[in-house]
Order: sequence, then C-alpha cells, then structure tokens
Amino acid sequence: MAQTVTQEGAPQDPAAADSDLPSAEGIRLIERQVETALAEHPDVLDAAVVFRGGTLEDAPPELCVRCGMDGRYPGLELDADSGVCSLCTMYDEHREEIHGYFGDVDAFTARVRERAAAAGSDYDCLLLFSGGKDSTYVLHQLVRLGLRVMTFTFDNGFISRTALENVETITKALGIEHVTSTRADQNRIFVQSLKEHKSVCNGCFRSLLDLANQLAYERGIPSIVTGLSRGQIIDERLLWFYRQGDFDAERIEEQLAVGRQIYHRVGDQIGSGSDQAVDEVEVVDYYRYSDVTKDDIRALLAETSQLWSAPKDTGFCSSNCMINDVGVYVHKLERGFHNYESPTRWEVRLGHLARAEADAELRTPVNIHRVKSML
Ligand SMILES: [Zn+2]
Repeated sequence: MAQTVTQEGAPQDPAAADSDLPSAEGIRLIERQVETALAEHPDVLDAAVVFRGGTLEDAPPELCVRCGMDGRYPGLELDADSGVCSLCTMYDEHREEIHGYFGDVDAFTARVRERAAAAGSDYDCLLLFSGGKDSTYVLHQLVRLGLRVMTFTFDNGFISRTALENVETITKALGIEHVTSTRADQNRIFVQSLKEHKSVCNGCFRSLLDLANQLAYERGIPSIVTGLSRGQIIDERLLWFYRQGDFDAERIEEQLAVGRQIYHRVGDQIGSGSDQAVDEVEVVDYYRYSDVTKDDIRALLAETSQLWSAPKDTGFCSSNCMINDVGVYVHKLERGFHNYESPTRWEVRLGHLARAEADAELRTPVNIHRVKSML
C-alpha cells in the first residue's frame, strides 16, 4: 500500500499569521519526523509527507552536492559536513557489487540467441519499442548485432504522433515486423495509477508488459527486450534490494524472477492471458548490458536522423509520451518531489548524464494548461 499524507500547515487563527509558521528548516524537520513515524507502522510500505501552506515552497531545496538529488526525496539523508547524499555514499561503498549486476553486449547477445535456439523461435526477441530515444537506439543496436527482431508499441492513447511516425518510418526502413496495440480501458488504468502511485507510468508499464508478454508467447518468442535505462533499472528493480542491504547480483536476479510472476498475477487490471505466457517469456533489459551515455545515444540518433525526429509535444522527460507530464505534475504536487528524481540521479552517479543536464530535465516546468486539459 502506498500512502501519502498531507499535513496542513496553515495556522488556525488567521491573526496568528506568518510569524507562527515554522522556518524552512523546521518544516523539513517536521516532514522527516512524520515520515519516519509513518514508515515504522507495519502496514505502511512507503510514505511522503508534504507540508502545505508553509514557507518551504519559497525556500531553495537542499541538494546533494554531488548528484544534485533533492533532499526532500523520502528517506534521503544529506551528510551535515560533506553535503553528500546517502545514495551517493551507498554507491561509493558498493560500487563494485552494483556494477556486478551489469554486463556487456556479448553477454546480452549470447543470452538472447541461446534462448531463441532452445525455443526454435523465428525471432530472437520482441523489442518494446516506444519510438522514443532510448528504445530507438536499442533497435539500431539489435539490428547491427544481427539479431532477428520483432517490435511492439503500446499506444496508450497519448503517444505523440511524431513518435508513432518514427516507429513506422524506422521499422519500415529496417524491414522489421511491427505490432502496435491499444487498450480500450487505458484511461481507467491511468486514473487508478494516478490514485495509487501519483504517476501515470505504473499503469502504462503494466498494460505494456501484459500485452507484450501475450504477443511474445503467441509468436513463440522467448525474450522481451526493454529500453529501460540503467538509472531506471536501479530505481525500479534493484534499489529495493539495496535498501535491505542485499547487493548480490545472482540472488537479486532469482528474486526478481519470482517478483515478475507475482506482478503479472496480482491486481485487477488485466491478466497476461495465461500463467504459461509469464513462465516461458523472459524480460531482458538491453541497457543492463550496455554502458552507453546519453551523449552516445544522441550521437547515434543524429547519425540516423533521416529516420527519427524529436517530438515537440511531449514535455521534457519523455521523448514519446504526452501524458507523462500529468504524472510529473501530480507526483510533484502530492509527494513533493519529481517522479524521475531517483532514476535521473542514478544516471548522474553512473556517469551517464551530466549533473547540469539532470537539473535541467527535472526543473523544466510542465505545461500546466496541457496537463489540466488531460486531467
Ligand atoms: Zn547524491
């Protein structure tokens, strides 16, 4: 269960006015204390406390001096002397183990080819292809590696027209068999996702993975390849284990496989059709095996620029999805920090993204008019 708690900070007596409001430092302390107390409750898995009506909105946030992470991120501690955040310190202390989870492209190719050979499949893999920057880069690499690829796009109803055109242009030029699917009740899933997670992405990934899993299973393709960045891989798959003090790559991988089975069987959204589809299809993150920087990705897209145009209608954090900004807006409002804060700061720690660029991405305001019309 995710729980968000709002503490109204406005004074009861209007005459008491500003002088009774705690200082920015006092507000942060209150937020921390309430958050810590909530997190100790056995039924609370996650909590973010946002003080409303105080002076904090005007005060500059405390930031990690190294990665720039917002000190309001739940559970993050900034060292009083050095100003370095607890996640940067964790990375320093476990750098080798953390990198032990990642591999190289040869390991990726071998893994995907072996599984395809064992299954006797016509394709080596099904790529989740959004038409955005990261998955477009992956598609070019898979083709260059000589892999037999089919691509899948989930149109959540808010995918930029430019991104959908990119998908058509690239797959046609590369001679790739491509499938785009939609879901009639996706808006309901978005609403549920916004309520539960204060983000649209959770509900979208869920539909995407369920549909892709079913397609891969029906076509006998044993591997689904994602374009999740290393920052997203750490944030979404690994950080939970790190917080329990577990950095063992093999053990984490085993538990992730179990987690995936549960993920597809729990919840009332949609089933994957059959349990067998989940058992027989594996999800492989391409960037787990590739250490490219964001600059490398941009360089390749520039090289193949006749096949890819940057969408102009998607906000700053996404290169394919227009509803993404709704998630950014709601998350910031209700949880007090950007929903891309954690994965983006991991990109900085891993050396894939310059800090100034991360700051620019996370501080670009959303287009409120567009967000409200979607809401
Ligand atoms: Zn940091």
